[in-house]
Amino acid sequence: MSMKIKGIAASDGIGIAKAYLLVDPDLSFKKTTITDVDAEIARLHEALNASIDDLKTIQQNAKGSLDDDTLAIFDAHITILSDPEMIKQINEQITSKKENAEQALTKVTTDFANTLAAMKDNKYMQERATDVKDVSKRVLSHLLGKKLPDLAAVDTPVIIVAHEVTPSDTSQMNKKYVKGMITDLGGRTSHSAIMSRTLEIPAVVGTAEATQKIKNGETLILDGLNGEAISNPSEAEIKDYEKQAQDFEKQREEWAKLVDAPSVSADGKEFEIASNIGTPADMDDVQKAGSDAVGLFRTEFLYMDSTSLPTEDDQFNAYKKVVETMNGKPVVIRTMDIGGDKPLNYLPLPEEMNPFLGYRAIRISLDRQEIFRTQLRALIRASKFGQLRIMFPMIATLDEFRKAKAIFMEEKEKLQADDPGLGNDIKLGIMIEIPAAAIFAEAFAKEVDFFSIGTNDLIQYSFAADRGNESVSYLYQPYNPALLKLIKHVIDSAHKEGKIAAMCGEMAGDEIALPLLMGMGLDEYSMSSSSVLRTRSSMKSLDTKKCAKLVANVLKDSLTNEDTKKMVKKFLK
Ligand code: PEP
Ligand code: MG
Repeated sequence: MSMKIKGIAASDGIGIAKAYLLVDPDLSFKKTTITDVDAEIARLHEALNASIDDLKTIQQNAKGSLDDDTLAIFDAHITILSDPEMIKQINEQITSKKENAEQALTKVTTDFANTLAAMKDNKYMQERATDVKDVSKRVLSHLLGKKLPDLAAVDTPVIIVAHEVTPSDTSQMNKKYVKGMITDLGGRTSHSAIMSRTLEIPAVVGTAEATQKIKNGETLILDGLNGEAISNPSEAEIKDYEKQAQDFEKQREEWAKLVDAPSVSADGKEFEIASNIGTPADMDDVQKAGSDAVGLFRTEFLYMDSTSLPTEDDQFNAYKKVVETMNGKPVVIRTMDIGGDKPLNYLPLPEEMNPFLGYRAIRISLDRQEIFRTQLRALIRASKFGQLRIMFPMIATLDEFRKAKAIFMEEKEKLQADDPGLGNDIKLGIMIEIPAAAIFAEAFAKEVDFFSIGTNDLIQYSFAADRGNESVSYLYQPYNPALLKLIKHVIDSAHKEGKIAAMCGEMAGDEIALPLLMGMGLDEYSMSSSSVLRTRSSMKSLDTKKCAKLVANVLKDSLTNEDTKKMVKKFLK
C-alpha cells in the first residue's frame, strides 16, 4: 500500500528512486565473558580488516566527486584502524579481562578519544578524537553484523531519508545519484533546505516522521514542488509523477532560454537577479543561471569545510576565483556568519541556551579580531580582480557597523602601504536581519553603501520562531503585513539616501513575494541559482506600476499572511 508523507517543500523538482535511510543502526551490545580468547581476537581482526576494506572502497568510489580534503579523512581513519598501540590494548583487554570484542573495543577507543579530546590547546588532536569515535562505530557495526549507512558509497539512484542532513553529509553526496532528500527536521529556511536548493536536489523537510515511516530500499516518490512524498507508490502514481517530472523539465528548458536575457519588468524597468553561493564550486551553477551578480557569498562554508581556520591565502584564492568568474559583475561577500546553527568544530564556542540569539556572526568577528582581520585582508586583496562588495551579517546597532568599518579601514590602510589605492572601490553594506536594524534603517542608510535584507533571520526574529523548528514553521510568514511594512521601510530608507536595497533571504526567490517586492522597488533579488531563471521569467510579465498599486492595496486591506497571499494570487491570475 502506498503511503503519503507531508512536509515542507524545500527544493523544487520531482525525484523517483529507492529510499536510502541515513540513520545509524542500533549498535547496542551486551558485555559478556568469553572463553575462547583466540577466536575473539580473530573476530576483532576480521572486523578491523572489513572496516579498512570499507573505507578503501568508499574512498575509491568517491574519487572524482569529493574534494581532496574530504578524501584525506578516509586515510586518517585507515591509519587509526591500523594503530599498533590501540590494537595492542584491545587485544590485552580481551586476553586479560576475558571481555568480548565489542566491550574491549569500546573501552579502549573511548579512553583514546577522551585523552585526545582533553588536549585543550591542540585542535588537531581534538579532531582526531572524533575520528577515533567514528572509526570505532564502524568496527562495532561489523562485529554486530549491522551495516552503517555510507553516503559516499552510494552508486545507484537514491532518495536520502534522514532525521537531519548536515553540511558534512551534503559534502559526501554525489549529485549524480542523489535524486532527492526528505528529513524529519527543518523548515524552508533551515540550512539543509538552503543547501538542497544550491545542489538542485528536490527536497521535502520538516516531516517529523520520514525516518520512522519510510523503510530502507522501498520505492519513493519525492515531490519537492508540493512538499510531499509517497512511499510504495502504485504503477499509476509512478506514471503520473513521471509525467509531472517531464513537464517540470520542459518548463525548465523554457526558462533556460532566458540565460542571457536582462532582468526586466514588463514595463522595461531593470532589476538585478543574483545568486547566493556557499563555495567557489557553486559558480558553475551561477553561470548556468546567467545571474546578474553574486548577491550573497556565505563565507562560513569555507570555514566549515575546513579542519582549521582557513588561511588568508586560502580565502584570497576562493574570493579571487569568484570575482574573476563574474568578470566585472558585482559580488557581495559576507564576512563569516558562524554560530547559530552553523558551528565550527575547531573553534569551540561556549554552550548556549539560545544559540540563534547568542555569540555569532559579527559578534564573534568583533570579539575575535584576528579571525576577522585575516578575512578582511583576503577580501581587500581579492577586490583587485573584480567588483567586490563586503557585507557584515547580524548587525544590530550602528556601533557594530562603525567598529567593523574602522577595522576594515585599518587593514585597508596597511595593505595600501604596498599597493596604493587597493580596496578603495569596495562598497560596504550590512545584512538587515535583526528587527532593530530594520526599524532604524534610515540611520543606517546614511552610513552604509547598501542593505541586503536577510528575511530568513528577519522573519525568525520578528515572529520569534526558530527557523529550523518545524513545529513553529507556520510562523514563517513572508506575506504578513507586519513584515511587509518593515521591508518597505528598509527599501524606502535606502532609496532616500540613494543607496541600493537588496534581499538575499529565501523570500527574494519566492513567486508570491515577487510582485510585492517589485512594487516596493527592491533593486536586487538574490536567491539559489536554481530559482534565477524562473524569477527572470516571472519578472518579464509584471508591470511595476501595477505591482506598486498591489502593495498599496495589501498594506491597506490585508491583516494576515493568508489575506496577502489571496490578494497576490488574484493579481497574478
Ligand atoms: C538570512 O538570514 O536571510 C540570510 C540570507 O542569511 P542566512 O540564511 O545565511 O542566515
Ligand atoms: Mg541570516
